[in-house]
Amino acid sequence: MKRRTAFFFDEHCLWHSAGQHALIMPVGGWVQPPAAGGLAESPETKRRFKTLMDVSRLTRALDLRTAPPASEEALLRIHPADYLARFQALSDAGGGELGDFAPIGPGSYEIARLSAGLAIEAVATVLRGEADNAYALSRPPGHHCLPDRAMGFCMLANIPIAIEAAKARFGLTRVAVIDWDVHHGNGTQHIYYERDDVLTISLHQEGCFPPGYSGAEDRGSGAGLGHNLNIPLLPGGGEDAYRHAMARLVVPALERFEPELILVACGFDANGLDPLARMLLTSEAYREMTRTLREAAERLCGGRLVMVHEGGYSEAYVPFCGHAVVEELSGIRTEVEDPMLDFLRQQQPNAELQAFQREQLDRLAASWR
Ligand code: ZN
Repeated sequence: MKRRTAFFFDEHCLWHSAGQHALIMPVGGWVQPPAAGGLAESPETKRRFKTLMDVSRLTRALDLRTAPPASEEALLRIHPADYLARFQALSDAGGGELGDFAPIGPGSYEIARLSAGLAIEAVATVLRGEADNAYALSRPPGHHCLPDRAMGFCMLANIPIAIEAAKARFGLTRVAVIDWDVHHGNGTQHIYYERDDVLTISLHQEGCFPPGYSGAEDRGSGAGLGHNLNIPLLPGGGEDAYRHAMARLVVPALERFEPELILVACGFDANGLDPLARMLLTSEAYREMTRTLREAAERLCGGRLVMVHEGGYSEAYVPFCGHAVVEELSGIRTEVEDPMLDFLRQQQPNAELQAFQREQLDRLAASWR
């Protein structure tokens, strides 16, 4: 069945530039400047995702939209004024390191506001009933950003900014955020840790980023206790670990919470070719996870599902993962085939390791009840 999918994009988001790096290492000292590429968080992963949708003609079937930058009022619901002033001043001065692994360039402040603006409008469009679901190709990403500190390529907390804007405009009371970026969604967790109106669930490679963090024991506090859930996965977990985690942990938690809207922090860095993580997912795994959440949204909240782009650093492979997600959101299947699917399927963990991972996840599920 075809669905009305709104896709939010702005070319300016691809113009955020953070100076010369080799993957995540600033050049200099022992680090030779790279001949090509540079910072892992490059525009090319996102551009090639969009251009694959263009050449497959998937874009033509979507409701392609853009959005204004997030207003100061919207930013101030999450970030203190002195942080925003510091960000803007460094951006105006040509850029530099705004936080831990958070380099920025000239104009990054305005572009980050635009990135958050895409997320705000994606949510608003679905809540107004103008689309069944939506995807915001936001860049820079947002899920590591704390209210007063940039971190991990993230300068503004795009998803919390969008949630708070929606609460102010539409009076939402219960929102769920599923973060399947391979890194922990620490910023979103921090912002909602003591609140019961936003359920946050992060699936991530254990110990990857923030370095050493697992989070299995962290469940929220005060009113938020039980509304902040973490699913750390072993490196190399593969499709089966994610499938089991979605079925045994994520979907039951959503059913208990009964959200009015499901948001996804949609990173693609759990893909099997990513330079910054080790999780072995395929484009088909992303398609299946999208289907699982789409069906959960249809059962629980009128199908209201919004994805906001986060990480994903394989220029060659992110496009196929993103394309599969948008195909599933829209219900349109193009002729695009994933050329790496068999190659990655051959590398999945064996049955013994899969059984071990399932047991681990079942223990975590038992501890949530
Ligand atoms: Zn990530």
